[in-house]
Amino acid sequence: MTDNATAAELARRIRQSGPISIADYMSAVTEAYYARGDVFGVAGDFITAPEISQTFGELIGLWCAVVWRAMGAPAAFRLVECGPGRGTLMKDLLRAAARVPDFNAGADIHLIERSAALKTLQRETLKDYGVTWHEDMSAVAEGPIILVANEFLDALPIRQFEKTAADWMERYVDVNEAGEFNIVLKSGAPELAPVADAGAIFETSPTTTQFISHISARIARQGGAALLIDYGHTATAAGETLQAVKKHRPCRVFDTPGAADLTAHVDFAAVADTARASGLTVHGPLAQGTWLSRLGIKLRGLQLAGGKPPDVAKTIESGIRRLTEPDAMGELFKVIALTHPTLATPDGFQQDAPS
Ligand code: SAH
Repeated sequence: MTDNATAAELARRIRQSGPISIADYMSAVTEAYYARGDVFGVAGDFITAPEISQTFGELIGLWCAVVWRAMGAPAAFRLVECGPGRGTLMKDLLRAAARVPDFNAGADIHLIERSAALKTLQRETLKDYGVTWHEDMSAVAEGPIILVANEFLDALPIRQFEKTAADWMERYVDVNEAGEFNIVLKSGAPELAPVADAGAIFETSPTTTQFISHISARIARQGGAALLIDYGHTATAAGETLQAVKKHRPCRVFDTPGAADLTAHVDFAAVADTARASGLTVHGPLAQGTWLSRLGIKLRGLQLAGGKPPDVAKTIESGIRRLTEPDAMGELFKVIALTHPTLATPDGFQQDAPS
């Protein structure tokens, strides 16, 4: 039995108009969840790379500055972050990129964020910069663009399909008299279904495809690059990845909707296909640990730790290990860059780069 306001609202909606798709459920739950505000860090529900180590945003900042130079150092460009959380990544990015003359002066900063509470937090973190907020990308004015997003795509809604003995069906969310949510199947098949046995689950994200199509078309028209970091798989495959996390522990997707973070693995093959279809060049996906190591995260960590008390130096080092080691975030998290075809292979993606 769930008893919160989001659950009550979802139950009312389903009783009135019938079962809703997993995508509609995820969309409503995610909006309610991020409306709570600061859900990040040790005291929150989950911790993300920029909150673990400042080196993450700093290296991304230098990466952006190198891409900007390769674009011909445009005097004005859009620096966009989607789903900025607390604003930490953007703050670290701008601090590091400030070393590259004219980058920060040319950066017209846009944040894509729907949560009013998180916007307030971002405004505080980025109070030294001029920043504009938008609900989605379509409101960002045209122009050359450098876009970054960490753990944004995993929050976008997915649809779920289930293979039955006869055919694929789509999974919907229904509610019983006790107010408990449960899955029901309705007719509907994915556009491109994998070969799978009865019982298999297959997930698609039309919202992600739409987002990647939109940013790719912009980059193809006006130049630039997108750097997307998330956890996910490199090949499209059947499998259920929708998960809920609360207080750093997995919980059931239908328990306490709006009080737990709901995410799904990103299908990087689908992301790459969509970007290529718009004429972009795709680099990666590459394991986050490999990419960060190629960009010199260990050296940056040593610089930061130099002269610091041993406990601070140890925290810096363990943060970097957490971001890079395969059994922590180094392997499951992946980095993909989508660039205008005239740009050279960006930092960290060169085949022969030392690892
Ligand atoms: N990038 C941050 C936060 C990741 S959490 C970090 O690495 O710490 C996901 C972020 O995406 C939150 O800021 C959330 O409010 C935002 N978000 C989720 N769905 C969104 C949507 N559909 N449109 C815009 N922002 C969204």
